[in-house]
Amino acid sequence: MRFLPLLLLLTACLPKTPPAPPVVGAIAWEVDRASVPPGTFRVMHVATTGARERIVVDGGGGDFMDLPVYVYVYEHPTEGTVLIDTGFGRRTANDPKDYPGAQAAKLLSLRMHRPAADQLEDIGRDVGDVRNVVVTHMHADHVGGIEDFPNAALWVARDEWESAGERTALGKPDTSPFESHAAVKMVEFTGTAPYGPFAGHVDLFGDGSIIIIPAGGHTPGHVAVMVNLPSGSFLLTGDCAWIDRHWTGPELKSKLVRSLLEDDWERNWANQHRLHEWSKAYPELTVIAGHEPANLERLKAWPEAYE
Ligand SMILES: [Zn+2]
Repeated sequence: MRFLPLLLLLTACLPKTPPAPPVVGAIAWEVDRASVPPGTFRVMHVATTGARERIVVDGGGGDFMDLPVYVYVYEHPTEGTVLIDTGFGRRTANDPKDYPGAQAAKLLSLRMHRPAADQLEDIGRDVGDVRNVVVTHMHADHVGGIEDFPNAALWVARDEWESAGERTALGKPDTSPFESHAAVKMVEFTGTAPYGPFAGHVDLFGDGSIIIIPAGGHTPGHVAVMVNLPSGSFLLTGDCAWIDRHWTGPELKSKLVRSLLEDDWERNWANQHRLHEWSKAYPELTVIAGHEPANLERLKAWPEAYE
């Protein structure tokens, strides 16, 4: 019975009934496609993690679900290659037990596919030319590869950066990949205008191509990212929604995840509804959940690009 106190503690921590969804109201969102730069957008699969369905969604069953780890590559006509997240990197590929892969290898059945740096080189890009990386949040499966891009500025929401070290053990941000990397740039949302149903936004280059959106809850300063091309838009949910069901339903994540992994699950739940309402009001928007397995078949496969 030595686990009884732990069990009691865990039960006490379990989230209660979800709060009523936010009243989102009419959503104003417009992109001036004629003025958006002629960039390209690609989705890259770098690794696969997984968990039982009952961990991923509330009320799920015992089937094991693959949860791929993606990196998004936007190529700007003058600013060059921009990454949104980095996945796990070369260090983890060389030794999955090496930090920051160790935790995920154990807990999430990590299987490396190919690090982002290698896949970029496969298509003739130089990793030294990547000048900007936008970080959705500081969990290892999103920042584990940043050391592979030594010349990149790392764009992190101030809330995210400043809360590092304050979270629960499982949801603890991984700061170790940042240690060798001086060029962390704070994304500041204070005083910025709303974007779609969200309360603020930062236009990374000031030309409408990459929009960083505050969508905290999974972690304190978690962000979503909109990539706008002349032909259409991609809304990267990060881990606000791991899979489509988290924004289509929207369905809750499991109680275990909400209580142990998420910083503020009620805030995340409200943002899941904002994603849901946005996609309903603008069905032409391509919503890409952080770890949706169907995206491997549905989206253009690396290195094919959206233009
Ligand atoms: Zn993740």
